[in-house]
Amino acid sequence: MKAIAVTPKQTNSVRLEEMDKPKTSDIKNGRGVLVEVLRVGACGTDREINNGEYGVAPEGYDFLVLGHENFGRVAEVAENVTEFAVGDFVVATVRRPGYSFYDDIGEQDFTTDDEYFERGISRLHGYMAEFYAESADFLIKIPPAIKEIAVLLEPLSIIEKGLKQASDIQERLKIWRPKTAAVLGTGSVGLLTSMALRLRGYAVHGFGKDARDGYLNADLLEEIGVSYDSTMETTVAASTEKYGEYDLIFECTGYSPIVFDAMQSLNQNGVLILASVTGGERKTDAIPSDKINQQFVLGNRVMFGTVNANREHFEIGVKDLALCEAMYAGWLGKMMTHKIEGLENFAQAFDVLNNAGKYRAIKAYFEVKKI
Ligand SMILES: [Zn+2]
Repeated sequence: MKAIAVTPKQTNSVRLEEMDKPKTSDIKNGRGVLVEVLRVGACGTDREINNGEYGVAPEGYDFLVLGHENFGRVAEVAENVTEFAVGDFVVATVRRPGYSFYDDIGEQDFTTDDEYFERGISRLHGYMAEFYAESADFLIKIPPAIKEIAVLLEPLSIIEKGLKQASDIQERLKIWRPKTAAVLGTGSVGLLTSMALRLRGYAVHGFGKDARDGYLNADLLEEIGVSYDSTMETTVAASTEKYGEYDLIFECTGYSPIVFDAMQSLNQNGVLILASVTGGERKTDAIPSDKINQQFVLGNRVMFGTVNANREHFEIGVKDLALCEAMYAGWLGKMMTHKIEGLENFAQAFDVLNNAGKYRAIKAYFEVKKI
């Protein structure tokens, strides 16, 4: 079978590899499921791995099959799989257990290991292939009604984990009735976050770098009742004069200095969620640290980081995708701006990823096989 692979840590090594088709017997305890891949999303993580920034090949290989945002159809099940049947639509989670206590109890998204196992990213092959085999334990069943947009589930699962943790943390308050939220960043993650917050009844304000005019992402935000402001014209802190302080802020810009701006824009008892992986060396000075610290102390404010997702977050995501289709029919489909037909056209996908601004791309994805 065909697969898209890279040599980790080598710049622009993306290519097609020919591999053996996996088998259900590759998975232990008779829990194997063979999945025919239908769609795979391509994102900044794939771009950064192909840039040689990170990524680790599985043991015994000198290449890594890319792809973590997946959607497929069950082709075969082993003898101890009762929860899936041939023909079911599924999405697989990404991280697999390592060695820490959290991994032992199935909470590998909270691992304390420094080396982790993630399909398509670190030590495990990914989903940019015609088939994959996986334990039924790591597969999520997808209702046929959301098959067209289910490839968005993996990126949404990261957001669901952040929002679930925020509500878990806020149980400290006994009563928390958040009304307004700011979403910093208006790429595909920012759009999905804004959607998830709208489904929960928040008044949502989105912030991006781009000018409003002709910005498709801002059009989509406004379609679901989210305001858009360009940070070239207003800072997040200054925006509170217009919108008030935010009960919840979700940061997904990739630009770390904005975090300090966000810290000053949070309402009393508010919660700030950090979800950008900023791998650079940027430093920021002239931070009003006394003021920020005092606001956090006197206002019982909270800030936390979140990464990856577990099975329960994918399951919440399935419900949100379905609810979004019910409330804003067709909206999620509009995010899927660039379809690449066939794994062999990988160069086209990376061209879109490397020039997202030029292509006005929100989400690029492979159609490996027609649904
Ligand atoms: Zn991704």
